[in-house]
Parts: sequence; structure tokens; C-alpha cells
Amino acid sequence: MKRRTFLIGSVSGLSLVALTACVPPSPRPTASVSTSPTPTPSLVPRPENLRRSSWSADPFARGSHSFPAVGATPEQREALGQPVDGRLFFAGEATSIDAPGTVQGARASGARSAREVIVAAVTGERIAVIGAGIAGLTAARALKDAGFDVVVVEARDRIGGRIDTVTDKKWPFPIELGASVVRTSGDTTLDEDLTGLGIATAPFSRRSETRTSDGLVVPVPDTGAKAVDAALAWAADQPADVSVAKALDDSGASKLSTTDADTGVSDADWLDFEIVTVLDVNTGAPLDGQSAWYTPAAPGPDEDRLVLGGFAGLFEGLLEGVDLLGSSVVTKIAYGESGASLRLGNGESLGADRVIVTVPLGVLKTKVMEFDPPLPFAHRGAIAALGMGTVDKIWLQFAEPFWDTDAPLWTTVGGDSDFRTWINMVPLTGEPVLVGLVAAETALRLAKVDDDEFLAAALASLEPFVAPPATATPTPAPK
Ligand SMILES: Cc1cc2nc3c(=O)[nH]c(=O)nc-3n(C[C@H](O)[C@H](O)[C@H](O)COP(=O)(O)OP(=O)(O)OC[C@H]3O[C@@H](n4cnc5c(N)ncnc54)[C@H](O)[C@@H]3O)c2cc1C
Repeated sequence: MKRRTFLIGSVSGLSLVALTACVPPSPRPTASVSTSPTPTPSLVPRPENLRRSSWSADPFARGSHSFPAVGATPEQREALGQPVDGRLFFAGEATSIDAPGTVQGARASGARSAREVIVAAVTGERIAVIGAGIAGLTAARALKDAGFDVVVVEARDRIGGRIDTVTDKKWPFPIELGASVVRTSGDTTLDEDLTGLGIATAPFSRRSETRTSDGLVVPVPDTGAKAVDAALAWAADQPADVSVAKALDDSGASKLSTTDADTGVSDADWLDFEIVTVLDVNTGAPLDGQSAWYTPAAPGPDEDRLVLGGFAGLFEGLLEGVDLLGSSVVTKIAYGESGASLRLGNGESLGADRVIVTVPLGVLKTKVMEFDPPLPFAHRGAIAALGMGTVDKIWLQFAEPFWDTDAPLWTTVGGDSDFRTWINMVPLTGEPVLVGLVAAETALRLAKVDDDEFLAAALASLEPFVAPPATATPTPAPK
């Protein structure tokens, strides 16, 4: 089944059977991932190194970042960030209204929570910060500088949370399994701060080279973007929020032709392309769970920088003078008039005057952390209503480039591949390294497969970029 058949089917259950019937499966040159546990794609060479993320399965993240679920409002992010009884404070990307789901939003929320503590507390008090991601570390630094006794309690044996830089001699440069892109627009100095810390970044354009499954380079029409815009505009006039899937369906915006143009790509394929390479990657949300009212605007094509020099360098100096309790999972927070007490997974307890909670929304949703007394209704409502999306990455290092393009960003349209967005690190670093992205339902499905199957899906997705053999076509020659 062509991928568009599946996606349009998820938009409209009724149209699934008809579309499946009229869109024949496209022939693939290699074994399908789903039919063999360890297929070996013949066109793409095996990489020398591989790293993958699996954020939905990570017990200390349960997803990549929060998204606006149907029925949730931006005000609920504010509600989640409200202090409780002057004892409990909340930070983390999910509490950011201006930049949810981002490093800069998380960082700003950490600074905001520290300011709230400073107003409520007396200098010298002991403050426990739960979570050593950018929100927690920013709060800890500000409180230490303001004269508080700060302890950061972190479940993992590393700091950084969803900033996960791997510095390993197997790789020619630090690779990022979590955040890697910094937006330069909006109220942020993050890109300048990274430069100040000596962390290399490079301009990163979202204008991609787009290929069909047959490897044909095609210009991207505005068909898909216009359909999504029309659906969201229709949804804005409705009396209640609906999902993006329903908006596409009920507005009629998804009713696009499935007849292939000369390129082998139909209008329906271009809508699928917009969904997979823009909406899914931006929010990590399932289309039928994502709010049509509050779907964030896609970032502009030229406002991003890619971090090349190790995002984790951002933590430099943040823990100076701060106690860090690593590998310590907080399972219960009791709080009252006289202070707070944390229970850890190993049975030990820790006292503090006040607590800042920065664990991800996905963790709060699992209820592995008990609050005593229970959180106020507004907090519980926000935790239930907001969504946690999933974006995952695969990093592949090859002996040499097998591709024939210098474009830094690749996307594919049509076909049934899982990894539809790739970053080519050659123009950015000179190294034959590719980064594949999967998001939303595809990421959740692939999170369940082993590394061989994950790799097979990635390599099959790269086939449109394989340089043709020199004998088959005179130009362009393979590198
Ligand atoms: C694959 C991926 C790609 C991304 N890409 C980008 C990007 O390009 N640009 C961008 O701006 N943002 C991106 N993001 C989002 C960004 O990484 C996050 O918004 C940001 O890092 C969140 O920081 P935080 O401090 O709120 O949470 P976290 O970094 O998740 O920190 C929370 C900490 O709490 C700890 N914790 C959890 N449970 C417990 C517990 N029970 N006890 C103690 N500690 C606990 C966790 O281990 C973690 O260290 C991406 C995220 C992912 C996963």
C-alpha cells in the first residue's frame, strides 16, 4: 500500500477502502521491512555506525515534546506552571506558552520558576529541583546565585534530559539524539549564548531537496500546505476544537486527486508530504489527536541554526556549587506548610523547603510520581489535556557518501518509506553522516522494533538518494 493510502485513510476511515483499491502498491526494489525481520536493502550500503533514539519508550521522558491536543488550551500550560501553596513550583517546556516543545521555552520556564521561588522564599532555604534538563539546571543556577541551598535530583546517570549529546570516539563530531535545532526568531538569545560558549552552530534551511520514491527530484507545490491551511481556517470557525484529521476531512480539504502527475506524484501525495514532513515533525502528534485550533505555525524556512558543537556544552557552569543527586528517581512529593519531602526510588527520603518540578509532561501523565496532597484540579486537568508527541532520530555514518546531492535537507514524497526527512551532514561537517527523522504514529510504531528492523526501514527510505550506477546514466556521476 502506498503511504498516502494509509494516511488519507486515517483522515477519513470511509475513504480508506476505496483509496486502497485504486492505488496499486508501487514496486520496491528491496524486501519490505514488514515482511522480513532482517531484510537487507541492496541499494544502500550498510553504515559503519548507527545510533537511534526511542523517546516514547524512555521512562524519564515518555515522548519528545508536548503538543496542543484537541480541547487543550494554551492557558493550560500556564495553569501547569502555577505554584502550589508556595511550596511546589513547576517548570519545563510544557509550561511554556511562548515556545512550548523547545529548548528556549524550557530554559525560560526554568528562569521563571526561580523568580517565583525567590519571591516566596527566604534566602538560604533548601530548594530541591527535580530534573536536570535545561529547565531544572537554569532554575538551579539562578537560585544558587540568589543565595539558596540547591539540590538537583535527577533520575538518569547523566544531566541534560532531552538534550542528549553523544560524544563518542566512534563519531567524528558530537551527535544529538534529542534537540539539535535552535530557532533564531522570537524572544530568545539561545543562538547567541551557544556562540558565546564556543559551541558551533550552522545556518540550517528548511528548504529541502524533495525526491519521489523513484529518485526523481521534484519541486514542492503549495498543494499540501494550502489544504492544511484551508482545514485549519475551517476549524477556526467551528464552535468547538476538532483534530487536524477531522478538520481536513470535514472541511473537504483532504479530498484531493489521487491521480499521479507525470512525476508519479498526486495532489493527495502532496498533502501526505505536508503532514509527514511538516506537521508530524513539528509536533510529533498523531493527526487525530492534534488540536486544529492551536496547531503551531510551521517555522519559517530560514530561521534555524543546527547545533554542531555539542548542545550539552550549554550546561557548562550551571551546576557549579549545586548539589547533584544523580540516578535518583523521585517517586513521591509530600508538601505542606512546613516544607516538602521527596521519596526516592531506592526508598530514601530527602527534605527541602520548596521544590521545583521539571519532569516532562509525559512523566507527569504516567503518575509514577505521587503528589501528597494531590495536585489542584487545574494542574491535573492540564496534565490530562495536553499531549505528548514523539520525534525520533537515527544517525548513520557511512564509509563514504553513496548519494549524489549536496543538499543539506532531504525529503521524499509518495511511496511507503518510514523516514521521509533526512539531514545530510556532508555540507555541514564534511563527514558522510545522515540523520533520519520519524515522528508521530510512525515513530511510535518503529519504537517497538529492534535495531535491525529500524535500520532496515531507514536504509529502505534512503533508496531515492542512491546515486545511479555510472553505467546506467552518464550523469551525475556517483561521488
Ligand atoms: C528527538 C527530539 C528532538 C528535539 N528537537 C528539538 C530542537 O531541534 N529544538 C528545540 O528547541 N527543542 C527540541 N526538542 C525539545 C527539547 O529537547 C525539549 O523541549 C527540552 O530539552 C526540554 O527540557 P526540559 O528541561 O523541560 O525537560 P527535560 O530535558 O526532559 O528534563 C527533565 C528531566 O527530568 C528527569 N526526570 C524525569 N522523571 C524523573 C523522576 N521521576 N525523578 C527525577 N528526575 C526525573 C529527566 O531524566 C530529565 O533529565 C527535541 C526533543 C526531542 C526528544
